[in-house]
Amino acid sequence: MFKGLAKIKENNEQIQNMRNESKNEIDVLKLVDGDYAKIRILSDSNEVIKVPFHSKELHFPSGKTFTKMIYCSGENDCGICGDNEGEDDIRETRSKLILYIYVYEVAHKQNNPDKDWKKDSETGKYIETVNKPMLLMTGRGNQGYIENTFIEYWGKYKTLSDRDYIWGRKGSGLKDTLYSLTPEDKSKIPGVVLSSKEKLKPLETIIKEMYPEGDSQVNPKINKKSEEDTSEDLDRMIRDNKGESLFD
Ligand SMILES: [Zn+2]
Repeated sequence: MFKGLAKIKENNEQIQNMRNESKNEIDVLKLVDGDYAKIRILSDSNEVIKVPFHSKELHFPSGKTFTKMIYCSGENDCGICGDNEGEDDIRETRSKLILYIYVYEVAHKQNNPDKDWKKDSETGKYIETVNKPMLLMTGRGNQGYIENTFIEYWGKYKTLSDRDYIWGRKGSGLKDTLYSLTPEDKSKIPGVVLSSKEKLKPLETIIKEMYPEGDSQVNPKINKKSEEDTSEDLDRMIRDNKGESLFD
């Protein structure tokens, strides 16, 4: 038995973490307008990957739409690329830059009453303590400015892991969203951060597992998944959709 909402909430979080671990999944860092995260980059320069994704709009009874990302394993292997009868727009791909990061905390512009974020009196932001490895997935940015920022710091410091960074987002629209990466002073990597990297699978492996092509909703010809897998997909979408129900 769990008595008290704090205990119940803690237990729910533990279950979610255990599910994530057993499925070898990892949360993707999501920022909205005005948020920033204090991070350490765990993927060194030779481990960062850039991979193409297909995207598929899923429409839910509530009228909400969700963009489902599907890893593209390349023209010869990818069922979507190879499906000549499929719609053209799903065959298009967009590349994303992917890195493992350790997130110390996220500073939110907007409070979430369901979370116990502490307001920082200096910045007015609501601080979420995270302290775990996550995935940073980002588009290249307009004319590749995001990609170039990572390349620039790698060129300057010869590594991405010798200091903490602030990764921030301003704007919310397709055209006016800007991401920024700001280096802090050089500092020794904390032991807990370094050891968090040991359990992480290679990026290519986890991306294939988290964004599989074989989904009957997307491409019925590829394979039929069990109901359990489908419900896990839904769980993930709801989580990616910041916990909002897709059905009401
Ligand atoms: Zn493809």
